[in-house]
Amino acid sequence: MKPKILPADPKAGYLAAAAEIDAAIQRVMQSGIYILGEETAAFEKEFAAYLGVSGCVGVANGTDALELALRAAGIGPGDKVLTVANTVTATTAAIAAAGASPLFVDIDPATMLINPKAVEEMLTRLRDPRIKALMPVHLYGQAADMPRLMELAQAHHLVVIEDCAQAHGATVGGRKAGAWGQLAAFSFYPTKNLGAFGDGGAVVGSDSALLEKLRLLRQYGWRRRYVSDLHGRNSRLDEIQSAILRVRLGRLDLENAHRATLAARYLERLRDSSFQLPVTTPGSTHVWHQFTVRTSRRDELKSRLEQQGVLCGILYPVPIHRQPAFHVAELTLTETERACAEVLCLPLHLGLQLADVDTVCDLLLAAGAATKTASPHP
Ligand SMILES: *Cc1c(COP(=O)(O)O)cnc(C)c1O
Repeated sequence: MKPKILPADPKAGYLAAAAEIDAAIQRVMQSGIYILGEETAAFEKEFAAYLGVSGCVGVANGTDALELALRAAGIGPGDKVLTVANTVTATTAAIAAAGASPLFVDIDPATMLINPKAVEEMLTRLRDPRIKALMPVHLYGQAADMPRLMELAQAHHLVVIEDCAQAHGATVGGRKAGAWGQLAAFSFYPTKNLGAFGDGGAVVGSDSALLEKLRLLRQYGWRRRYVSDLHGRNSRLDEIQSAILRVRLGRLDLENAHRATLAARYLERLRDSSFQLPVTTPGSTHVWHQFTVRTSRRDELKSRLEQQGVLCGILYPVPIHRQPAFHVAELTLTETERACAEVLCLPLHLGLQLADVDTVCDLLLAAGAATKTASPHP
């Protein structure tokens, strides 16, 4: 049996900087302070500086980051939030947890990101004053068309909250993902480009009033200890994860560059295949959280590779509006539904080398993904 190539490998992020991470953990253990101390404050400052925003508030995970960002921006019951259906449930779960409802928009078939034309069409067709916010998802490591989306949001008085859980370090129009909207949410789940070794998340932005409100919301609404000024929650990033994230943030650009090297090899090796390959929009930097191809033979190729020790992911197999918990019966999103039926995420992570990419490509090409003219089912 050949060695397994996994779809993700969070341990590789530890091994790449094990001595520094161990030292960071020891530093926290010896400090005697484990929640909301110096490490979290320092990470928040360093991450905000990296992104080019004025502030960052560490929270317990990415879903909380999205929900608390909505709450801080005053989005709640009766409000509608424009977003996409080809995302992890977390995006929609956060909107529901804030008491608002999602309004799904179709995607651009080339990038599989929210389609500004579909946003504009929906806003002008519905003219619904309950539409209060826009939540673009920077899927697979590529930022949505933020210059155009910000114009639309301004014209229609929408709050913009970016879901940056898959786009740490991505840029568009010379600006980082997370530095466009009023607020942006990050996840530090272990498999993300900037991953902790446990749960973690953050909300970032440059509006000091919103950031102050988030600091209250993450800890019972306290401005003064034991006195709640707001209905807050407990959603905190802990000191150990913060200390680890400081080490990993220092390596993020290097690690994203490694991902880009692997992605370039896939693009070169699969250039003449029957797959629809990922495209990077001009003027943007892709950080390759996933390398997602499209093929009508998705399920067959996935199981063939699996038999040979290569595990691929499918992000995401069922669009949110077709999931029981969030089902919207009368809604058809043609491009979203097509993408969910065809996407296949090839292994791409820190634990892989170019030779591993070659192994995956050899298997795919041998399985008949060789030419654009190959018939779908022999
Ligand atoms: C991972 C992810 C989230 C949720 O993050 P958690 O930390 O797991 O709560 C939200 N949105 C997207 C697009 C994600 O990939």
